[in-house]
Amino acid sequence: MKASTFSDILKEWPIERVRRLIATRTEADVKAALENPDGTASDLASLLSPVGSDLLEAMAQRSASLTRRRFGNTLQFYAPLYVSNYCVNCCRYCGFSRHSKVPRRALSIGEALAEAEYLRDEGFRHILLVSGEDPEHVPLPYFEELSALLSDQFASVCIEIYPLDFEGYRRLVRVGVDGLTLYQETYDPRVYENVHPAGPKRDFTGRLQAVELGAAAGMRSVGIGALLGLASRREEMFYVGLHARYLQRHYWRSHISISFPRMQKAAGGIPPQAPVTDSDLVQMICAQRIFLPDVGLVLSTRESAYRRNHLLPLGITRISAASVTEPGGYLDGKQSGAQFEVHDKRSLREMVDTAQALGYDPVFKNWDAAYHS
Ligand code: SF4
Repeated sequence: MKASTFSDILKEWPIERVRRLIATRTEADVKAALENPDGTASDLASLLSPVGSDLLEAMAQRSASLTRRRFGNTLQFYAPLYVSNYCVNCCRYCGFSRHSKVPRRALSIGEALAEAEYLRDEGFRHILLVSGEDPEHVPLPYFEELSALLSDQFASVCIEIYPLDFEGYRRLVRVGVDGLTLYQETYDPRVYENVHPAGPKRDFTGRLQAVELGAAAGMRSVGIGALLGLASRREEMFYVGLHARYLQRHYWRSHISISFPRMQKAAGGIPPQAPVTDSDLVQMICAQRIFLPDVGLVLSTRESAYRRNHLLPLGITRISAASVTEPGGYLDGKQSGAQFEVHDKRSLREMVDTAQALGYDPVFKNWDAAYHS
């Protein structure tokens, strides 16, 4: 019987099966995966395997060349705009958890517009509205009103908020929201249950399903990812890759992207449970690029300037810059709680100069939007 959602695919891949597959990959498997333009699940496992770690140089070269071929020298910049840090969930890794004692704030529409105007003056044309998950403080009509006002001013308005149903996403698409980011955080249901002890986010399957509802509702770009450090990295990346491929095949109108957020220090949050080293991160980025040549790969300011400069050429196509992770933080400075610590504090101008020095053409205009309309 044909699988109808990604949850069905997950059932075919229990973690023990994935672990065994990754552990039994050989050097010949990795070399074959490097050359296969239509990679299989086994190829992905090979690229993520311990043997793959030993062939990192070959992976990096292949990944960089595929990226240049598919995306040219373009690099898209975006800025997150945090509109609220109220949250009803208790994620054990996050500074916005409802148990966290950080000062709370939800921006009024006017305050959010002022922050957006600041970002626009700085040169940003792609904006990501971010909030903690608490619809009482920032309900759907709030995002509708704000997005309708912003969509005239920005080439792209995306959201990273609480999961919505199909109609909720449709309403936001109608007022100009064109992108959805929703991380599963971890694809290991046991770890998921442990780090989400209470709140609506405990619904593992519902969260997975929301991504598909967003894509079905017309979100032109859809971003997924796992919070790196929560669970065993090789298996997590295997699931992320399968998820991205599933979405590409079933929601082909949406451009799918993968983010690589490494756990950072957060107020009251747990430390990384399965730390990810720099070379692990390189392997993950390269493996996803080789497995999914057309997928967008995103890197945020969680990583340091030095690391971002070195990771960019491997396959990254979209980065944030000059980010502030607290509501009102662009104009008012530090008054409420931040979600995580930002490590790359360069301004957009500095980032653009660096990107150009590395041979990139920074992209601010969303030509896709014009094309689609
Ligand atoms: S990760 Fe998201 S849902 Fe969880 S506590 Fe933080 S803001 Fe809330």
